[in-house]
Amino acid sequence: MAGSSSAAASLPSEIQAQVLTAFNTPYQLTTLPLPVPVDHDLLLKVGAASYCHTDLVYQSGVMGKILPLIPCHEFAGTIVSAGPLAFSTVPGLSIGTRVGVPGRAYRPCGQCRECKNNGGDPEGYGNTCPKAGNLGITRDGGFAQYALVDARQVAALPDAISEVEAAPLMCAGLTIYAALKRCALPKAGRVGIIGAGGGLGHLGLQFGVKMGLDVVGIDASDEALKLATELDTGASIFDARTTKPEEVLKQISGQTGEGLQEGETGLDAVIILPENQSGFDYGMKLLRNHGICVVLSFPKSGFHISAEDLVFRDIQVVGSLVGKNWVLKEMLQLAAHKNHDNSAMVQMAFQITFGTRVC
Ligand SMILES: [Zn+2]
Ligand SMILES: [Zn+2]
Repeated sequence: MAGSSSAAASLPSEIQAQVLTAFNTPYQLTTLPLPVPVDHDLLLKVGAASYCHTDLVYQSGVMGKILPLIPCHEFAGTIVSAGPLAFSTVPGLSIGTRVGVPGRAYRPCGQCRECKNNGGDPEGYGNTCPKAGNLGITRDGGFAQYALVDARQVAALPDAISEVEAAPLMCAGLTIYAALKRCALPKAGRVGIIGAGGGLGHLGLQFGVKMGLDVVGIDASDEALKLATELDTGASIFDARTTKPEEVLKQISGQTGEGLQEGETGLDAVIILPENQSGFDYGMKLLRNHGICVVLSFPKSGFHISAEDLVFRDIQVVGSLVGKNWVLKEMLQLAAHKNHDNSAMVQMAFQITFGTRVC
């Protein structure tokens, strides 16, 4: 199209995509026209696309109503074409750049409070803009050979990160990394990850330790504890079924509690990943007075918070959801950093099956 950049000569006129056409049914492999980028759009040749728990929830019909839909909100690919505003708005991108795509905020309005107070992201780009679309949820996403994305929502991939490695980092990785940032801890600050052996938790253990934090991982199943332990991050791992919060605190601090009041010992922050009240309660008991509890998951029916914890212990309870683009870029730089033995800094434990990764 006029004014756009593209490698159009090599592009097909039709693409194949996995399409959800009815709730509680399998995706249908469908042939569709090649999407055309306009304005800030990029057209990507998709290299890897992850299957998130949210895709499963959407497929079940309890989350959204848009059908037909190409799912997937965490993917990565190479730019093959762009709308006329894309490269001038976001320097550093060009045809051939490999990018990672978190699904949030496709085509934001640029005018609302969220877009104008965006904390350092590209001008006019609010990743929580109420008028923006979400790829794979309200707009077509990444389970396709080619996909439209917004130049302002992506991040270029460091050379050390493959598209397969990048895709799950775009949702699970960004979510847990942003939650760790939300704790706002100094080096050696103490953070507990409740649900440390799951999709987000096992990434959080690795990011947290590499951020210089003193990390405690808690889980309550043999499989999850095995994963959290075998990652060998240096985090202290505990089984919530056999170890009470008070015992965890004794073991990690060596403090007997003698001479200290309840609440004077404890972690500076906890991140809650299980969808149950007991995980939330366990995390709250690990916190010192004035600590912060970052909630990422919760039971459908909500959860109970003790007023005493809020008022007398001054615990802050906050929620967190994905992250801004500068947080995304920072996470990718950290993830690209190799260990001393040249192994990848962040390992993802959930295996690829037929080109998708469950995390
Ligand atoms: Zn997700
Ligand atoms: Zn907006």
